[in-house]
Amino acid sequence: MSKPLKLPIYRSTNFTFHDFNDMQAALYGDSKDYFYARDGHPTVENLEKKLLSFEPADFSFVFASGMAAISAGLLSVLGEGDHVIVQEEVYGPTRLLFEEYFPSFGVTSSFVDVTNLTAVEKAIKAETELVYVETPSPFTNKLCNLEGLRKMADNYELTIMADNSAGFGFLQASRFADLVAVSLSKYPAGDSQILGGALFGNEMWREPVEMERSTFGGVMMPWDAKHLYDELMEMPERLSHIAHNAYNLQELLKVDERVKNVYYPVMDSSKPSPVGGFVTAEFDMSLSDLPMFVDKLELFKKGVFWGGTTPVVTPLLASYRVDVLKSWGLSPNLVRFYTGDVNAEELYQDISKALS
Ligand SMILES: *Cc1c(COP(=O)(O)O)cnc(C)c1O
Repeated sequence: MSKPLKLPIYRSTNFTFHDFNDMQAALYGDSKDYFYARDGHPTVENLEKKLLSFEPADFSFVFASGMAAISAGLLSVLGEGDHVIVQEEVYGPTRLLFEEYFPSFGVTSSFVDVTNLTAVEKAIKAETELVYVETPSPFTNKLCNLEGLRKMADNYELTIMADNSAGFGFLQASRFADLVAVSLSKYPAGDSQILGGALFGNEMWREPVEMERSTFGGVMMPWDAKHLYDELMEMPERLSHIAHNAYNLQELLKVDERVKNVYYPVMDSSKPSPVGGFVTAEFDMSLSDLPMFVDKLELFKKGVFWGGTTPVVTPLLASYRVDVLKSWGLSPNLVRFYTGDVNAEELYQDISKALS
């Protein structure tokens, strides 16, 4: 029998049964038969299997967005009275979860520089349940020592959850973390047409995560799963261009004296392996000159998105007020560049022109 070249899609949210026994087995959870797309869907499952080739965990569940996946992980692990050590530099909406939502459910958190193992160890309390990290970090691209954190977590019986959205396709956080969340809206979607999220984990978290997804209902639709599945086939080549451009751009910025600091993550300095398409630079300019500099850039779109082929500029000052950035230990002069598929030399010329 011949096979379709592309993944077929089942555009049905409901499934019917042959007889009473089949129906009862499915609804009792004794068989794996599908019955309703909120509880599992064949096209979505194809995507889940495919994703495991990038992040080899025991399972992956796909969600309607990265935030739905992050929430699912946190709600599966945390309960009243628990304390969480959260990476100081963390994705904004995730920070809101810890600052605004979890306290009302009796979950407290401490924001800590998780790249510093001593600081993490100092923050551990009797109630600490989880260490939540994001690698690379969203603004200054810091990589955390997941292996070191794993050892510490084992000593203190803690769970590690990582947001690996910015490292997806470059580093496999599930080698050391118990749960790994990834926004599929970024590198996997690439072209800015799909929102999605995935949560990976080891076997002990499979049931709680699956139950969270069925009950809270943040599921992905089959068409989006099929689209993402096809995009994933092209992702490795796209990522290698993006990282190549970013690595070269940071090399050019590093030797430009108008740039005070450049942040770009590289794994294993003996054989440098660039991680991702973000280059964050700190400029030696007054804050009043920053908007004009950003407006003079021609190749970079102004926005907060990334992951596709479009170069994007995100000045931190456009997202957060000066006092907020300073309270996180960040300079308001930081500008995050996402290179996309435009080559480094052209991007550097654009930045250089806007600086002069
Ligand atoms: C975008 C993003 C998320 C959230 O993903 P959505 O798909 O937008 O919900 C989480 N973490 C990081 C690092 C992100 O960049």
